[in-house]
Amino acid sequence: MTLNQEQSEKNIAKKEIESENLEKVPVKVYIKAKSKKIKLKAKENAKILKEKSKELSKNIIIQAKIVGQKIHKISQDTQRKIHEKQEEWREQNRQKSRENEINSDHEINQKDIRSDPPKFCPFCGQQVSPGGKFCPNCGNSY
Ligand SMILES: [Zn+2]
Repeated sequence: MTLNQEQSEKNIAKKEIESENLEKVPVKVYIKAKSKKIKLKAKENAKILKEKSKELSKNIIIQAKIVGQKIHKISQDTQRKIHEKQEEWREQNRQKSRENEINSDHEINQKDIRSDPPKFCPFCGQQVSPGGKFCPNCGNSY
């Protein structure tokens, strides 16, 4: 069988496969054509999969960025609240010390002045004990 003959036989077989008139197709050619189809399909699927995973990882990066921005904002808000609370505390303390001067009630108020400013959890804003290490509210270390 010459190359041309083989080629034309294959082409006929191909047409028969496409028209699903399979009984005319030699088994070998049929299997070859089928496996070629399967290989092509697998290649195609791999390509689709690759593209999808690319898209997915892009989305993950975007999501991570969004989450990061949210965390940053929450942390900034919490820091601001802590700052406000500490300012409030300082103001109260100033008022107390003024009252202290007026009342000269040293024993109670001097204790307040000597105490450290209150500490707040940098993660959730919960007031925490200055000597502690972990937030009783969210469990983060501070
Ligand atoms: Zn906390």
